[in-house]
Amino acid sequence: MKFRVLTLFPEMFDSFLNTSIIGRAISGGQVEVTLDNIRDYTENKHGRVDDTPFGGGAGMVMCVQPLKDALMAKTVAPGGRVIYLSPKGETLTHAKVVELAKLPEIVLVCGHYEGIDQRFIDRYVDEELSIGDYVLTGGETAAMVVIDSVSRMVADVLSNEASAHEDSFSNDLLEYPHYTRPAVYDGDAVPDVLLSGNHAEIDRWRLIESLKITKARRPELFAAYMKKVNDLVKDKKTLQRIKKDL
Ligand code: SAM
Repeated sequence: MKFRVLTLFPEMFDSFLNTSIIGRAISGGQVEVTLDNIRDYTENKHGRVDDTPFGGGAGMVMCVQPLKDALMAKTVAPGGRVIYLSPKGETLTHAKVVELAKLPEIVLVCGHYEGIDQRFIDRYVDEELSIGDYVLTGGETAAMVVIDSVSRMVADVLSNEASAHEDSFSNDLLEYPHYTRPAVYDGDAVPDVLLSGNHAEIDRWRLIESLKITKARRPELFAAYMKKVNDLVKDKKTLQRIKKDL
């Protein structure tokens, strides 16, 4: 999986790309990230990449020329996608992450200031993506969110494949709670079932806890999950038992 990031601040990615799971995915060759500094492509003799907005108003707007030349400097892999990180884009979800992980290459365009000239978006951007309903100072942190979440879905990036399958959202549920040693801390004991060694009971407890937390915090996900289960589960007794436990 290849990512190319067009940014004015490549140094922001230093620690992110060299640490933990993403660092290992890059050194292991499962993920490749190239950083291109948009400023390197400006034709402005003072190195400027932005200008004042037509029509007046506060802030600066990133110019088309350096963005276009930075993008065109390398060919995008066939089937690849150019994504502009923007609060006006579609909000990133687990389903979107899974979709993006199937692409051969993603080019992530990071805006700054008031954003980028609309003509670049209209002509060169395939998709605008937001990481949530708030405004960041720049697209770099959003690009890191995309690289991080999409890379987790790429084969062999996570050492324990099963953990991605049980994570929140992967099965339309929020994940059950986790506990580790010691078994009792400051008078708080972990649930007995987790120490029982009975894996069928542990799985059942985890499913119930997942359902409870999803029902409480994300009723819309819970309703969708229960509809799917009602359609799928043939053993209505099991279903009744689960529903009673909630
Ligand atoms: N004036 C823009 C607006 O109101 O929609 C906000 C510009 S913001 C200060 C600067 C840059 O940060 C944007 O061009 C975009 O690349 C990035 N950005 C800000 N919020 C974002 C979000 N929620 N998701 C993704 N990128 C975001």
